[in-house]
Amino acid sequence: MVLQTAQEQVNMKLRYYADADVQEWHKHAIRCLRSLQEEYDTEVEIDRVDQQHGHLPEFPGTIRQSDPKTVYERDLKRNRTLTDRIEQTPSEAYKRYGDLEIAGNVAVVANDGSVVWASTLPGFADGYMPGVESETAMDFLDEITSAPSERLCIECAALLDGSEQYCPSCDADLTGK
Ligand SMILES: [Zn+2]
Repeated sequence: MVLQTAQEQVNMKLRYYADADVQEWHKHAIRCLRSLQEEYDTEVEIDRVDQQHGHLPEFPGTIRQSDPKTVYERDLKRNRTLTDRIEQTPSEAYKRYGDLEIAGNVAVVANDGSVVWASTLPGFADGYMPGVESETAMDFLDEITSAPSERLCIECAALLDGSEQYCPSCDADLTGK
């Protein structure tokens, strides 16, 4: 994410662990990523951990064919920042009965390459279950595509839920936007 501030430029990128089980979610994720890149100059990329829906369409970011275990160990496992943000352990969130379930989720990647947030539920944009919108990939993509600055602090790149007056991480005043 390239959000220009007076002090510095915060670079973050958005990573999609493809493919979501449901083809419509998969297509929607790619549409959102493309618009993030094109409209907001946000870097986007795909780790294709579970190929289900054929060839990917033309895409403005990096695409990797990835092994889920490698991705889990690189991005999620023992990631304390992530654990704090999602309020569960990566193994609770991304392993079901011993199998890795990563595909369909999206992650926010910080400057240093670490994942600072990831959805824990793929899909579910239209009220699959009330109250889980902050955890789902599609809701996050919809929100960040329509208003990136309400989801990420432009000073420190912390995640926001859009209702804060001050950034919970760096205390930046968010009311001026
Ligand atoms: Zn902040």
